[in-house]
Amino acid sequence: MALLVCLFVAACSKDEAPHVHQERIVAFGTLVDVSIYGADADDVATATEKLHSEFNRRHTLWHAWKGGELYQANLLLREGQPAKVSQETIVMLQKARAISDRSGHLFNPAIGSLVALWGYHADELPTGPPPPAAEIAKLVKKSFTLDDLTFSGNEIIPRRPGITLDVGAFAKGYAVDHAIDLLRAMGINNAIVNAGGDLRAIGSKGDKAWRVGIRHPRQTGLLASLSVHDNESVFTSGDYERFYIHNGKRYHHIIDPRTGYPAPDSTSVTILRADAATADGSSTALMIAGPKDWTRVAKALGLEYVMLVDTELNVHLTPAMAERIKFEVDPKPVTVIETLD
Ligand code: AMP
Ligand code: MG
Repeated sequence: MALLVCLFVAACSKDEAPHVHQERIVAFGTLVDVSIYGADADDVATATEKLHSEFNRRHTLWHAWKGGELYQANLLLREGQPAKVSQETIVMLQKARAISDRSGHLFNPAIGSLVALWGYHADELPTGPPPPAAEIAKLVKKSFTLDDLTFSGNEIIPRRPGITLDVGAFAKGYAVDHAIDLLRAMGINNAIVNAGGDLRAIGSKGDKAWRVGIRHPRQTGLLASLSVHDNESVFTSGDYERFYIHNGKRYHHIIDPRTGYPAPDSTSVTILRADAATADGSSTALMIAGPKDWTRVAKALGLEYVMLVDTELNVHLTPAMAERIKFEVDPKPVTVIETLD
């Protein structure tokens, strides 16, 4: 989940405000703002209601730890048993697998047991201390990935016992894509669906592009803002979203599957990309890749627009992102522009 703040309220001048309808719903464990330009109020109400019920349905379906379909499947998979699920879950997992493979499994939805060991599966934040090193090492050694699963019809078949799925780094993006599909099917072509700061836009706000802000990872307020054009998604992962401090050290919720510990070298990563699902999975992967390795992983994922804030708060950018981003802090941060070829 990203703490990215939408600027459309501030960006709306008085005369265009009546054309932008904003509805706020609580879904996917977060606030979802739906902004629609140029539709009538009845259509907006119908669309928002539809999105609300779809978000809630998918949230329950794919919550790894709360009694839905994925939770039920995990109970069987962990025992090495095949699990029957709906076709939409199979399709979602296949997409997740493709992104996981391309990221070299830095984005790895098969590390549910590690997420749970750290206590980041629960709604309440863990307070530390970190789990015992031996338990972490035991799980890392298993090195589960989605490639340990075979999909056959409506069945997920595990190759070995012990796997637990957690699609928390991906399902929201995937659901945002679906929400945009639903809006389009209703004839709505100018909108933003913003789920807790992570969003996808279609069309524009009249003759202006949508504009969004990216939260500063260590201060209140914005680090930067950028315009978002038709069919672009902006997703951020950060070490400030879910974390605890123990003996002065930050332990956050994005786990490096290679070490079993929270990714140590990144503060936040923002990805701009057409589809929200890929943007979501990629922001998680690049948090783990960190400032030394992110260009390699970005290339493998086919990314063009990336902003990575390292632990010194220096900002690493692709040339395309450097052109698009406008910093909202004074003085501007130190920036490093890195090409992907
Ligand atoms: P995000 O905010 O999209 O980066 O997702 C973070 C969430 O994804 C965490 O709260 C965990 O549930 C899960 N997660 C943590 N580490 C990983 C990882 N390496 N690959 C996939 N999911 C992860
Ligand atoms: Mg993500």
